[in-house]
Amino acid sequence: MNKIEKKQQFLYSGNEALARGAWEAGLRVAAAYPGTPSTEILENIATYTEIDAQWSVNEKVAYEVAYGAAIGGARSLYASKHVGLNVAMDPFMTSVYMGINAGFVAVVCDDPGLHSSQNEQDTRWVSIFGKAPLIEPADAAEAHWFIQEAFVLSERFDTPVLFRMTTRTAHAKQNVPVGERTEAQTRPLVRDMAKYVMVPKNAYMRHIKVEERLVALARFAETARFNQVQKGPAKLGFITSGVSHAYVRDHYPDAAILKLGMLYPLCEKKIRAFAKSVRELVVVEELDPFLETQLNALKIKFRAKHPSYRIGELRPEYIPAIVTGKKKTDAPAAVRKPSLCAGCPHHFVFHALKKFNAFIAGDIGCYTLGALPPYSALHSCICMGGGITFPEGLRRGAPGQSVIGVIGDSTFVHSGITGLINAAYNKSKGLLIIMDNAITAMTGGQEHPGTGKTLKGEDTKLLRIEDICAVCGADTVDVIDPCKHRELEELVEKRLKEGLLSVIITRHPCILKK
Ligand code: SF4
Repeated sequence: MNKIEKKQQFLYSGNEALARGAWEAGLRVAAAYPGTPSTEILENIATYTEIDAQWSVNEKVAYEVAYGAAIGGARSLYASKHVGLNVAMDPFMTSVYMGINAGFVAVVCDDPGLHSSQNEQDTRWVSIFGKAPLIEPADAAEAHWFIQEAFVLSERFDTPVLFRMTTRTAHAKQNVPVGERTEAQTRPLVRDMAKYVMVPKNAYMRHIKVEERLVALARFAETARFNQVQKGPAKLGFITSGVSHAYVRDHYPDAAILKLGMLYPLCEKKIRAFAKSVRELVVVEELDPFLETQLNALKIKFRAKHPSYRIGELRPEYIPAIVTGKKKTDAPAAVRKPSLCAGCPHHFVFHALKKFNAFIAGDIGCYTLGALPPYSALHSCICMGGGITFPEGLRRGAPGQSVIGVIGDSTFVHSGITGLINAAYNKSKGLLIIMDNAITAMTGGQEHPGTGKTLKGEDTKLLRIEDICAVCGADTVDVIDPCKHRELEELVEKRLKEGLLSVIITRHPCILKK
């Protein structure tokens, strides 16, 4: 009998592989807010009956729910896109001080090239800022493997672990060998006030632990299986990580490569030894000079990419030019311009708004596409929830200007409610339009409290957005089907003339709603 048992394999994307690996690791609780390119992680995790998975109303809430579950004794996971972690930064920073009980991993997917994001921030810096270990897989198979190791690392060092993916590692598919689920040991909830109550004195003591932990993690990084030396003739050597590894390997199949899977803290000794073993060392990384900065601090000599490559996605064809130190010369790749779907209810709203010559302050969602022709009827978009607070500021800064705020239903629940309370409390007037399409549409159609369904498709309490607006302090709240475009125009005109704090909810389901 053949003693080597062949593992079952599935063609998985990085997000699917990560979900499978987390399930095998005994994951019990997961929480997230949808956001490209991370959305499929929770959609896949939710298919496993052993895991209590939820769409939370925003990333801060998701982080706190998942982290609380880890303190409660269950292996837990948070997931979001890069800008989502900004929303969760408050609990993230202090959770690193508090440590964990059962393993806790925060998965964050970056979007180099801004396929679907408002900025191109590089989450790797957060690990240094927050003093948390950072793991980054290079492909789907590693996502499946590393996520299991990340839970072990979390429990061994009593720390939340940052797990970074990018669009290509999250979405590219490959055959992934899988295993079976291992139930993680239950860890009883303990009342350890010195560890879990972050008043200044306790937090000070925990900060000492954090610094000690970083030293121990750096020692661990030297032998960690996350970091792999791939030998070649000792002429040309690369230090790389993530999807950049595949591009380097394709172009230089015989080169020596130190592929880093644990990017913070770095394995200093291993890097020094590798640097000595090659005649020329090149660092290849996507976006910011994260590895370069750390290697510079170690005074290790290497060739860095030209700064022009810090913007946009790294492409395989750039690698030879990076090795020879050349500047990026190509223009951004031609992309098909996005547009609202034919028949989208938002068409009617922008058609109406265009007539009022107002400054339209928007938010994050399909309706951001109102900024593009043929409407060109959206004039700002900064972040989730900004469609209410930003226009309040505009009205205060430019009192004579007609300003209308625009936000979606999911975004209103995410972080718009506090903005409306703020406007009412501070006696702000003006018109806000909530474009309610009964789904989180831009990320592919996820449920939220206003849809009355959970992530697992179960019926739940339905949040009535009009009731929330009324109790937040709106002077008038109207609900209208935007397809009645003449009535909508008349209503907008009326509410603008009144000069009250008014909300109009334009309610019509997204035509792609399942
Ligand atoms: S997905 Fe739905 S809300 Fe988004 S543009 Fe298409 S129809 Fe409109």
